[in-house]
Amino acid sequence: MAEIEGQVRVEELDAEREARRQRALAQIRQYPDPVLRMQAKPVDEFDDDLRRLVERMSALMIEARGVGLAANQVGILRRLFVFSPKDDEVAVVVNPVIVRHSDEVEVDDEGCLSLPGVLAPVERSTSVRVEGKNERGEDAAFDLEGFAARAAQHEADHLDGVLIIDRTTPEARREALATLRPRVVIG
Ligand code: ZN
Repeated sequence: MAEIEGQVRVEELDAEREARRQRALAQIRQYPDPVLRMQAKPVDEFDDDLRRLVERMSALMIEARGVGLAANQVGILRRLFVFSPKDDEVAVVVNPVIVRHSDEVEVDDEGCLSLPGVLAPVERSTSVRVEGKNERGEDAAFDLEGFAARAAQHEADHLDGVLIIDRTTPEARREALATLRPRVVIG
């Protein structure tokens, strides 16, 4: 199994698979896109548009080799995210609320599909309960641990415009911003 760093699987891919990953990443908003800093609004209509959005986000997450994707990351300011609670499973939470965080926390490196090349240590609760709705408007709840708990906290942050660079150490933040700064190539 691939190593998971927050929102990103770290693994070797063959050329064709890597090309598909790059095409998916090209459809995901990248820092410093302002939509990544905005607060998403609650979903109030559980219609076909929502279900199409969920399908698109799920497919993009899989192609991009992510373990989570929030609507802000595809330019939609609505409160929903998809994530992978287990290998090869995709779940959606609409209007998610983390109703319980464990007191126990853990620091681990996290990546983000919108912050290419950045890995930064982030402290998260080791288990959480997330409640919300599914794409049909039915109640949905997840008790999560380990990487899935980390992914859900990461995705919930996206819906409030919060990124891992806001949650990491000052040193790691400086390093991340240096990585993300557009490179000027002379000559
Ligand atoms: Zn992210």
